Amino acid sequence: MRKYFIAGNWKMHKTASEAVALATELVKELKGGPNKYMIAPSFTALDAVSKVVKGTNILLGAQNMSTDEQGAHTGEVSVLQLKDLGVQVVILGHSERRHIYKEDDAMINKKVKLALSHGLEVVLCVGELLEERESGKAEKVCEEQTRKGLAGVSAADLKKVTIAYEPVWAIGTGKTATPEDADAIHAFIRKVIADMYGKAAADEMIIQYGGSMKAENAAALLAKENIDGGLIGGAALKADTFKPIALCK
Ligand code: PEP
Repeated sequence: MRKYFIAGNWKMHKTASEAVALATELVKELKGGPNKYMIAPSFTALDAVSKVVKGTNILLGAQNMSTDEQGAHTGEVSVLQLKDLGVQVVILGHSERRHIYKEDDAMINKKVKLALSHGLEVVLCVGELLEERESGKAEKVCEEQTRKGLAGVSAADLKKVTIAYEPVWAIGTGKTATPEDADAIHAFIRKVIADMYGKAAADEMIIQYGGSMKAENAAALLAKENIDGGLIGGAALKADTFKPIALCK
């Protein structure tokens, strides 16, 4: 039985004190909640938020990390530095990283393997652009990003991976994939996982939906067989808008 995994990606929002205030509210509101939870503040707020969520049912996530453990990588943040701050999960391959910062599948795969080798959980984001959907390539893009992102990941390490299906055209746009369309891609990704790792691993795989998920559409999306949670941007920035999604059963 898969448990919903509800995660907030705070992107480049909130100062450290604002992040602490939101995290403090969420710790109170989600205590005893029915799902798995994660919040991913900016790097600059990780240390402060780490102290707030430590020992609670909310995991601490980072939004990205370097391909390398350490060294001459000006402006980057390493897995060792994240672990030092208490980070437990890292989001990799977010569409903003792929499309604005030109991260390719090889780079994302390197990060995935490095994070897993250090015991972090990974949320691997995949998803198609609008023109790819319109030209019938959504499945092909998601398959390629899934296969390449997970290349060389062992079956044992796969247990620490969540996939987030995030159609790029639905992120921060207010447009949501219909529950049926999203579920169809989730089912397809699960088939890809089955082909790579076998049916049992595919049945266990948590596949989140991301793309303008909010209180108004979360229940319908989460009711679908293959949608196992959400990676939430805009609606994760306030306790009032995150809590109704987080408490969905
Ligand atoms: C995201 O940041 O991954 C996301 C899905 O954003 P939003 O919920 O704002 O569309």
